[in-house]
Amino acid sequence: MNTTILGYPRIGARRELKFATERYWAGKIDTAELESTAAELRRRTWTELRDAGLATIPSNTFSYYDQVLDTSVLVDAVPERYRPLRGLDRYFAMARGEQDVPALEMTKWFDTNYHYIVPELGPGTAFKLALGEECKPLAEYREAKALGIETRPVLVGPLTYLLLAKAEPGAPAGFHPLDLVDGLVEVYAELLERLSGAGTQWVQLDEPALVADRTPEELAVLARVYRRLGELPSRPRLLVATYFGTVGAEALRVLAATRVEGVGLDFVTAPGNLDALASVGGLPRRTVVAGVVDGRNVWRADQERAKATCAALLGLAGEVVVGTSCSLLHVPVDLDAETALDPAVRARLAFARQKVAEVVAVGRALREDVPAAAPAPAAAAGIDHRVRARLDMLGDARRGDRAARFAAQRAVLGLPPLATTTIGSFPQTGEIRRARAEHRAGRISGDAYTQAMKDEVAHVIALQEKLGLDVLVHGEPERNDMVQYFAEQLDGYAATEHGWVQSYGSRCVRPPILHSDVARPAPMTVEWATYAQSLTTKPVKGMLTGPVTMLAWSFVRDDQPLADTARQVALALHDEIHDLEAAGICIIQVDEPALRELLPLRRAEQAAYLDWAVAAFRLATSGVADSTQIHTHMCYSEFGEIIGAIGDLDADVTSVEAARSHMELVGDLRAAGYENGIGPGVYDIHSPRVPSAGEMEENLRRALQAIEPDRLWVNPDCGLKTRAYPETEAALRNLVAAARSVRETP
Ligand code: GLN
Ligand code: ZN
Repeated sequence: MNTTILGYPRIGARRELKFATERYWAGKIDTAELESTAAELRRRTWTELRDAGLATIPSNTFSYYDQVLDTSVLVDAVPERYRPLRGLDRYFAMARGEQDVPALEMTKWFDTNYHYIVPELGPGTAFKLALGEECKPLAEYREAKALGIETRPVLVGPLTYLLLAKAEPGAPAGFHPLDLVDGLVEVYAELLERLSGAGTQWVQLDEPALVADRTPEELAVLARVYRRLGELPSRPRLLVATYFGTVGAEALRVLAATRVEGVGLDFVTAPGNLDALASVGGLPRRTVVAGVVDGRNVWRADQERAKATCAALLGLAGEVVVGTSCSLLHVPVDLDAETALDPAVRARLAFARQKVAEVVAVGRALREDVPAAAPAPAAAAGIDHRVRARLDMLGDARRGDRAARFAAQRAVLGLPPLATTTIGSFPQTGEIRRARAEHRAGRISGDAYTQAMKDEVAHVIALQEKLGLDVLVHGEPERNDMVQYFAEQLDGYAATEHGWVQSYGSRCVRPPILHSDVARPAPMTVEWATYAQSLTTKPVKGMLTGPVTMLAWSFVRDDQPLADTARQVALALHDEIHDLEAAGICIIQVDEPALRELLPLRRAEQAAYLDWAVAAFRLATSGVADSTQIHTHMCYSEFGEIIGAIGDLDADVTSVEAARSHMELVGDLRAAGYENGIGPGVYDIHSPRVPSAGEMEENLRRALQAIEPDRLWVNPDCGLKTRAYPETEAALRNLVAAARSVRETP
């Protein structure tokens, strides 16, 4: 084992898995056809990795939906409501729900944009190993072996699995999934014995949970798990893989005290792992898989540096294996598929296939003690001196004091208490998507496309007037995606043609690549906003994506601190906001749904992150008139750890996802000292269900216990782009009725 990777994209170079599963769900292909597509994708991956010269090849990195869900099925952690179903039907019901059977929850995998299916465990959960074909790691191991390829099955480690799980609804208050560790470990033990029986040499147990802060109790569980697995009389060698950060010395010491044969450490995100390793005296008789090729960003590796890191490790480990920092799941499949990229940018990139080649090259250089074959990429990021000079000269990002702003905005806007609005997007109808596709394919002209979008804006404005909303939006029909739309208009960003990455299940995203200094060559949204404003006397809210979200949903250059890149994006947004203001737009929303997502996994690093994230937002929104009202919007997250930071953004109005948590956020924000306007989502837009006016009214009254009526805004949970018009119209009608009713009889 001299070179390896921790995992590989499973969607296929042309998203074959996505299309096959979606056709399966639509009833267009049967189980056999789906399975044969899947088997073909696995075969291609394994043979490709073997042919690339990789010494050890992972298996069980394939999944029809998600590896955590696979684990739940593997250990029979199947909640009662899915038990009547079987096989793939059961599997997909757990992932996506079915008529009358809601899905399991889904949430973000550590600090990535990949989502896993949350295991739901209770005191009655009795783990049991799936057997036969259902025992996926064993089945895949055998499948590869039949092709003549020896693989290392990858499993979600027991500790990480339990830490990612949640207690089932109705579980007793004292119950924690970790209570189930002994039962779970026995299932893993049985699996290891079976794998060993089939000839498996190595197994990889992913324990990324070890890069976050862990309590002594959790570390005790870690010890218990790996002591037990280590002591099994017949088992494969165990590689405990960590990634996304630094493993604490405590956790390393725990692992060192077990019989685990290998540890994987991420040296890209966390060079500190070298110190951690040194501080425990190294792992002299173990294998260290050195994650030196970045598994979650798209830049070519500096192979000499990667080699030097491995060389530094030689004194600290029994054996050093060159590897990726994490699974390659998080990067696109193949750079060769890109034909339109600027060659200077392209020269700096490596996708999954190219990263495998890098691992192999570094391994060879290390083994043969020769310089790494390819030099570090020569091309550098483009520098924009004007942007840099402006940022250097910039003073404090300030806005007027709160009371003055509140008064000025009240005078200009004249809004009623409990003002009603939406989060920005309106349904992206088939027509809109079709027009975009036609335009992209060159079948309709730019003018015809713009006209179609303008017609849509006019329709959305008329609808909002009819419904009686107070602050209108243009509906965002012209935006394919809230990040990509801006990336396409900013210098310093590039788009790929096929750079798809799995986000969840069959859903893939194509993050733009932020490769150079960011600058705004021309206004991006002013025409749309002013056109919309020309159609109504009510205020139209301008709509932008904030700096942190612009980074979080892109691949971002790693040659300067994220904070510096965020300031460049913020400056571009600052200019856009000033242009909007000058064009007569008096309310501007800067969305930051990803503010929570980039929060570092280690608490000690969180304050520094929040400092620059907040500073970037404030830079973007600074210098506008007191009477210009700045909104922000956040969703998809637990806000607990960032509640203070939300206040620090100092937006005049913050709308947040709150419908599913019963408006609790309003009180939480107030308790954290937030004094400006709050728009707690009064209904959940993630489902087509139309809530009644009464239900929304109840939410508003609940919110009013914590906030004054002239600071309370009334809006849905999030944008409406995934909804259809009938339910949107009905829900917004009820929303306006609810606000009116509360205004009339407070
Ligand atoms: N303005 C965006 C929209 O309405 C916000 C999307 C989001 O919060 N993710 O679609
Ligand atoms: Zn949202």
